[in-house]
Amino acid sequence: MGVRKKAQGTEGQGPHIGRRGLLIGGAAAVVGTGVVMREELSELWWRAPGVTKPRVDGAVDFTGARWVAASSGNLRRADRPDDYRVDRVIIHVTQGSFDSAVRVFQNPSHGAATHYIVRKDGHITQMIRELDVAYHAGNRDFNQRSVGIEHEGWVDKPSSFTARMYRASARLTAGICARYDIPVDREHIIGHVEVPEATHTDPGPHWDWDRYMPLVRAERKRLASSGRTPDPGATRAAE
Ligand SMILES: [Zn+2]
Repeated sequence: MGVRKKAQGTEGQGPHIGRRGLLIGGAAAVVGTGVVMREELSELWWRAPGVTKPRVDGAVDFTGARWVAASSGNLRRADRPDDYRVDRVIIHVTQGSFDSAVRVFQNPSHGAATHYIVRKDGHITQMIRELDVAYHAGNRDFNQRSVGIEHEGWVDKPSSFTARMYRASARLTAGICARYDIPVDREHIIGHVEVPEATHTDPGPHWDWDRYMPLVRAERKRLASSGRTPDPGATRAAE
């Protein structure tokens, strides 16, 4: 989320386009560019019964996260990383309380949500499985290739970003990087504002990248030395 820079973007910024809408969009693309049509068709193929991986109710991708499902209007079912390669982590700031972020992500008309929300005290709630495409970047390509993390706070309020929040978020991001073999650098771990054609300014100037990145690197190293690469969906949600 965060402060909007200008006009609304594409995916994830407006009302949800339902399956019917997508089909109509795909057919309409025949008149337009063939590239778009092929993209829609390949997505529809992944929607065929029996193609997607089995899912366990309440499973989370990050051990310790609590599961609260986002509305299906704020995401697209997918089968990542098999259908789309995951190579970016995108950092957001909510511009509101943790509870209000959870609420809007449950609202089907919001049209946007991230995979995770990190609370000020370091608690993490997962609302969308990493398998699925969350509408959070305002850019279709970046939605498909990324995992989105919201942080409770305000871009113009430095006190929003607590030590516990940075540590918890760093553990989360390091786990994502381990799962998908994403390099821990600022090309692959970016702010919403750095997404091409981004319409939002979060995480803003007070998000301390110089503090955050070494924490992510340390957590990533710790995971590597433990020889543990957590499987997506392998753990049950924290009670
Ligand atoms: Zn954002």
